[in-house]
Amino acid sequence: MEIEIFNKDDREMKFMIKGVSVPLVNALRRIFISEIPSIAVDYLKFYKNDSSVFDEIIAHRVGLIPLNNASEIYIMPEECTCTEGCEKCSVTLSLEKTGPCTVYSGDLVSADEDVYPIIDNIPITKLGEGQELKFDAVARLGTAEDHAKWQIANAAYKYVPKIEFNLEKCDLCEECVPKCPKNLIYKEKDKLKAKNVNECTMCRACEEACEQGVIKISHEDNAFVFFVESYGNMNVSDIVSKALDMLSNKFDQLKNHIETI
Ligand SMILES: [Zn+2]
Repeated sequence: MEIEIFNKDDREMKFMIKGVSVPLVNALRRIFISEIPSIAVDYLKFYKNDSSVFDEIIAHRVGLIPLNNASEIYIMPEECTCTEGCEKCSVTLSLEKTGPCTVYSGDLVSADEDVYPIIDNIPITKLGEGQELKFDAVARLGTAEDHAKWQIANAAYKYVPKIEFNLEKCDLCEECVPKCPKNLIYKEKDKLKAKNVNECTMCRACEEACEQGVIKISHEDNAFVFFVESYGNMNVSDIVSKALDMLSNKFDQLKNHIETI
């Protein structure tokens, strides 16, 4: 297996992975989007809600506020011995505001300083003069297999494109050049060439524009361009490491299982 990182910052990573099959990269994609545990608000206890927005809508909005990753601090509710939530498996974020004001995610006060909204200015609702909003939001660990609020990353992959020219047939009419929406095809020294091939979306507009059949769009076997975007809960490098560890653990479990049969 060969990996080449194209670009990376705290939120996004794009890399090429070679020498693997579709089922393997798809298994990795599924771990990214639905199996990495994270913490999110699971339910709210309302004490007062004078706003014009129903309790259910506020609860839905608060559930979708990304919290920093705390999967190393807390345990999954189903792994805990308690029945109604305890300090090992849940954390409460409280909110108490009186209008006139806009209530933001940053107004949530967490009982644990290690769990907090990573974006402070997500509006929850507006309060008019004298209106009150008071609730406790209980956050728990979960995975996006149960609900998208626990999803911490988006991930996708595509085949590595291949652009081939049969230059013997080419009459250099250049009709294909403006057809490429990514401007990847150009003429240099009486030859057609392609640049930044990985940017090709394989739309085949160039192939269709060429009546002589000079251009052939295909893809590399067993090579993929992978894109991962963190929703901010975790650094993207940590997400990739975690996903690879989880994939490796799955193989170990499978191996152990086969050995015991
Ligand atoms: Zn518990």
